[in-house]
Parts: sequence; C-alpha cells; structure tokens
Amino acid sequence: MTKTIYLDFAATTPVDERVVAMMLPYFSEQFGNPSSVHVYGQSAEGALERSRREVAELLGANPAEIIFTAGGTESDNLALVGTAFARKELDCTKNHLLISPVEHHAVLHTAQLLQRRHGFDLEFLPVDEYGMVDPKDVQRRLRSHTALVSVIYANNEIGTINPVAEIGDLCREQRVPFHTDAVQAAAHLGMNVDRDRIDLLAIGAHKFYGPKGVGALYVRNGSPLVPVQAGGGQEAGIRPGTQNIPYIVGLAQALRITQEGVDARAQTLTALRDDLIQQVLDSISGTLLTGHPVKRLPNHASFVFDGIDGNDLLMRLDMAGFACSSGSACKVGAPKPSEVLAAIGLSSDLALGSLRVTLGRTTSDEDVELFVSALQGLVEQSRACRMRA
Ligand SMILES: *Cc1c(COP(=O)(O)O)cnc(C)c1O
Repeated sequence: MTKTIYLDFAATTPVDERVVAMMLPYFSEQFGNPSSVHVYGQSAEGALERSRREVAELLGANPAEIIFTAGGTESDNLALVGTAFARKELDCTKNHLLISPVEHHAVLHTAQLLQRRHGFDLEFLPVDEYGMVDPKDVQRRLRSHTALVSVIYANNEIGTINPVAEIGDLCREQRVPFHTDAVQAAAHLGMNVDRDRIDLLAIGAHKFYGPKGVGALYVRNGSPLVPVQAGGGQEAGIRPGTQNIPYIVGLAQALRITQEGVDARAQTLTALRDDLIQQVLDSISGTLLTGHPVKRLPNHASFVFDGIDGNDLLMRLDMAGFACSSGSACKVGAPKPSEVLAAIGLSSDLALGSLRVTLGRTTSDEDVELFVSALQGLVEQSRACRMRA
C-alpha cells in the first residue's frame, strides 16, 4: 500500500507523543479518583487542578472559570443549554437566542433543540459571501429579551475567522452572555477571553493534537449557567461525573504545546496554505475558494468545483493517496448540501462539489506539491464521470 498523505487536520489530529507520555502514568500508577480523601485521590486531584490552572492561564482566564467536559460537542451543549436555562430561570422573558448561520452542528442542533423542545425564539444572523458575521448586524438584532449570542470563532468548513472581540463588546454593553465555539480556532490562533470579550468558550483536545473525548468550557465568573446533567459535585457541580484525569492532563499539555508555538506555526502554515490555494485556482478552471481569502485559519483551504460530486472526488483522492474532506458532514447516499455553503449563497449544485484541505504540523512542501499535481486530473475525471451519468 502506498502511503496516504493526511490533509484532514480539521477533522482530527494525531496525539502528540509528548502528550501521550504525560498521560500514561494517570491510567495505571496514578489512577485515583480526584474526589477521594486518601493519597491516591490527592495525587489525582493535584493533576486535575494543575491542568485546570494551565488551561486557564493559556486562555487568559482564572482556574475557577474552567469546566472540563467530554469534548467540543459537550462544551457547546453545556454553554447553550446551561446558559439559556439559567437566563430563563432568572427572568422568564429571556427567551431569544441569536446565532450565526455558519455554526457547527454542535451549536446549530443544540439551538434548534432549545427552540423545538423548550420554546426559545431562535434567530439567525446574516453573514457575507465569506461566511463572516458583521458586528453591526449583532447590534441591530440584540433585544432586551436576548438570552444568549453564539458565533463560531473560526469556521470548520470554510475557515473564516469572525470578529469575535467586536461582537463580544456589543454583547457586553447589552449584558447578554456571548458564547463562541473555538474548537478549530484554539488549534491555530492565540486565545484570550478578555481581549475577545468572551463569556463562554468551547474547546476540544483532538483538534490540537490531544486525545479525543475531552474538552473544556470557559465560563466567565458571574455568567449565569446551570448544570444540564445531575450527579455529584464535580466541576463545581456544573458538570457532574468523575473526571477523566489522563485525558484532562493530555488536553492541558496539548493546549500548552499548541498555544506556545501558535505564531511561528501560523506563519509556516499560512505560506503553505496560500501556495496551495493559488496553485489550485490557477490550474483548475471552474474553481471557487470558499471562505475569506485572508481572514481564515492558517491551515485551511476550501473550494467548490463546478460540475462535480464532492464525494466522488473524495473517493478518487483517497484512491490516489490523499485523505481530504468535503468540509461538511454530508455522507454518501443522500447528499444534502451543507448549511454553511448555503448560507454563503452557493447553489446546492455547486455546494455539492466542495473540497476541504487542511494542513498540519507534519505537512511538507512536497505533500502540497504532490496533492496539487494530482488534483487537476482527478477533478477532470470526476467531471467527465458526472457528464456520463
Ligand atoms: C470538531 C468540532 C466540534 C466538535 O468537537 P468534538 O470534540 O469532536 O465533539 C465543534 N465545533 C467545531 C467548530 C469543530 O470543529
């Protein structure tokens, strides 16, 4: 089997070896329950609180503002449901949710659930052709009964980075909690919750070379939040359940390595990304870059090609030794164009021809060269195949 070049780092990343080494002792030797009184418990609690301090420091927060969860999805759910319920409990008129139309399903489907099952009034912000939210539109739509605003920090499908600090400012003026899904952003951009006026911020470790199934939610001190599951008193009673110490240790270590090297890595990746984008646009006709050309994640390139089926192209790429993504959760069978691509105004036909190429720490110039030279022929084959169908 020839080696497959992995170009899907926005889907997940391998766990950094240094992270694995830090995690290992907490599976077997230091296996204690952090809630136990004895020395085993104390040692686990020590690791837990060290990790909490570390994550807090890296986000510009206080340790008491960090809640560990089982991933990005859970962090988003807790932020939306926990805040919406808390706001309504304090004041039953607060039932308006304002979110962008380019959210990950972890936010979109949670907001829709709050609308369908709990009677919240869900409103979508407009976005421009790049999928970016204009803070002025947030200002216009904030109501006296707005319970929560949620805008994704950097989009997973099209890479666009939103002006979160400006949006956060406006929410703060109106005393409305502001949540941002930073699951992609934390892997590539320096994070600071004060600079960006964020009240709630979700991260997940597997997007930045940590393990899957662990995440964190930053909750600003004083921001109203009730638990969404019942149980013990762990995580200040907000997220009951015995903490997963090895994974939490891994998350903290992975976030440290990522955030410490963020600027240098962004520079390298941006150059590589721009090279890839330029070559694809130059060599393949009927190609459109999706997302913002500059204000986008440094590792992220995404396109639509006219006259192709994105899934067909993905399979051709896989057979040729390249692992990429369509950028959306759309699977073979009943292809449904992504909500994000619809929100930026693409026809469903064009949206079905999407491709996402995301680079990582190990991606080389040669990987990009090989990819670009293979892509042109594969797009041609895919187009010819659809013409015959
Ligand atoms: C991956 C991802 C999530 C979900 O995170 P998990 O840890 O996989 O549950 C949420 N939001 C964005 C933007 C993501 O990229």
